[in-house]
Amino acid sequence: MRYKTVKQENEFNGDALDNRLRMILYAMDGYSKTEFGVDLYITEVIRTHEENIRVYVERGVPEAKVKASVHQYGRGADCRAWILESEQASQLVRWTNKNFKYKGRPATALLHKVGNGMNHIHVQVDNEEIITIKK
Ligand SMILES: [Zn+2]
Repeated sequence: MRYKTVKQENEFNGDALDNRLRMILYAMDGYSKTEFGVDLYITEVIRTHEENIRVYVERGVPEAKVKASVHQYGRGADCRAWILESEQASQLVRWTNKNFKYKGRPATALLHKVGNGMNHIHVQVDNEEIITIKK
């Protein structure tokens, strides 16, 4: 596992992170290392609602429309996708969603572009007490 800065490393190892998310990120790191020889690279973990508002307002979203984010509850993390080949990033996302469900849906890992146009993988767990893991 790699981290953008010590801030993300501390948040990853801290009490605020949902243990289910930590487990999924470890699984993704293991898969990425085994399949591609590349550590998972965590760029963002905890983001407060105030930080979230700043990020979205910068992108032109009105402040009143900024919704709560899983990041503010320790249930979301972002990983750098462009350090992988595009097909590898898609494979990692498919593998993650096959094995871990978000609200019963294949939406635990989402590949999308961030503000700078670079791809990242948003990883999330829901607010339920249970997690669905494929047998
Ligand atoms: Zn995210």
